[in-house]
Amino acid sequence: MKIFGLFAVLLLFAASSVYRVSAQETKLKWFGHAAFSITTPKGKVLLIDPWLNNPLNPEAKDGKDPLIAVPKVDYILLTHGHRDHVGDAVEIARKTGAVLICNPELAGNLVKLADFPEKQAQTDAIMGIGGEIQIADGEVTVAMTPAVHSSSVFNPKATATEAERAYGGNPAGFVLIIKNGPTIYHSGDTAYFKDMETIGEQYKIDVALLNIGGHFGMEPQMAAKAAQSVGARLAIAQHYATFPGISVNADGFAAELKRLKIPFYEMKPGETISYRGKQMMKK
Ligand SMILES: [Zn+2]
Repeated sequence: MKIFGLFAVLLLFAASSVYRVSAQETKLKWFGHAAFSITTPKGKVLLIDPWLNNPLNPEAKDGKDPLIAVPKVDYILLTHGHRDHVGDAVEIARKTGAVLICNPELAGNLVKLADFPEKQAQTDAIMGIGGEIQIADGEVTVAMTPAVHSSSVFNPKATATEAERAYGGNPAGFVLIIKNGPTIYHSGDTAYFKDMETIGEQYKIDVALLNIGGHFGMEPQMAAKAAQSVGARLAIAQHYATFPGISVNADGFAAELKRLKIPFYEMKPGETISYRGKQMMKK
């Protein structure tokens, strides 16, 4: 009887630990501008457009090193090559060993011109628009989606006769399908395009991270239209109020979303929201 009792305890323990794993959350953190981290239920960390030294990031204020707050990164995803998106990718890659996910031209030029660690930029995670890859032992599917923008890589080694901007491949967005978590769309720096509807048809977008700052990409009203086109269950604003030219706040975006009856959540730089399955946890 005692042995059976022990078995029962062990079974209960095993069942509870399985439950604990399945009940784990997906965490989405905004660092300001277009920079987000996603921590999957199994603990893998993805960083998108990691300009952590942007002026909005509270972890970079007063000369603080924002990299101290990101000890572990498994993947770095870049929508395009502009400096406000590549940001601190090279330093983070060196420090964490993170694998790069972006288009091949951007990866190649980051290695050649910005000394991105070569081995981490030459894996089967290099991809093109329209493609899907599986990462994190199959826990996350990454789809690269079109973006209407430009893309170039800043060349810090450029001589006086060379262009400061090298080719950065095509700009993109990402859809991240997380097992036991939400499906997240990051729009990159795109303009609105009607085919966003196709993204919404193909993927059930739980949360859309949309660039709303205007000037270089979607104005707030069109960003709200983008939320509608991709069928977002929740819209979150990004790429605004960082520097002159994109100095709008999120009010116009919020008002238009209200009119379109699309839920909106205003994240603060440095804030983390959590999902259990596809459900956002109440604050
Ligand atoms: Zn940008």
